[in-house]
Amino acid sequence: MKLQKPSETPALRTYFADMDKAAVGAIGERFKEFIPADRLKNLPDIPSKFESSQDLRKTYRAETGHKAPDGLTGFTRPDSPAHISVKNLAGVPETVLHERLHQMASPDAKRLLGKHYEGITQDLAIEVLGREPQEGELTGYPVERVRAQSLRKLVGSDAVCRVYFQGDAKPLKAALDRMASERPLAGMQDKIKELPPLE
Ligand SMILES: [Zn+2]
Repeated sequence: MKLQKPSETPALRTYFADMDKAAVGAIGERFKEFIPADRLKNLPDIPSKFESSQDLRKTYRAETGHKAPDGLTGFTRPDSPAHISVKNLAGVPETVLHERLHQMASPDAKRLLGKHYEGITQDLAIEVLGREPQEGELTGYPVERVRAQSLRKLVGSDAVCRVYFQGDAKPLKAALDRMASERPLAGMQDKIKELPPLE
């Protein structure tokens, strides 16, 4: 008998590859009105890499020059494959969706959304996953996600998706300006102040 790492068994390899393709398909389907067609078309050609958490940490250091943060489950950089840890198998679909969403995001989304960027990525990932994390399960960015949910509710999901996928912050800014003039309440003002400057 030959001992193998979980990522090396053929059945799991097939499962990961299928999951990766299904994630791209599901995100494309859900957000097709926002994602530029050429970005969506090129993504299946960059299959994600599924790695042990030890290998993931090594790749992270090699690609970013920084020590991997504790609990890292995946990462992606522009124009290169996403890296996904297979340590917690139950969490793989969520991580794949999260990293694939980063790849489908506009190159300006991170700058425009600032500290909301990870939370919005996570909220969109869970929406496509179609299943809320259960009590006791590991999930990414739970606090940031709650903030992202408030923002999506406040300004409308479309305005957030326009920034995220198209780098167009105008509808979001218009919604915030409208709210600031119509409802000058203290709580609302605080919400607005949480946003980074929009262009
Ligand atoms: Zn992320």
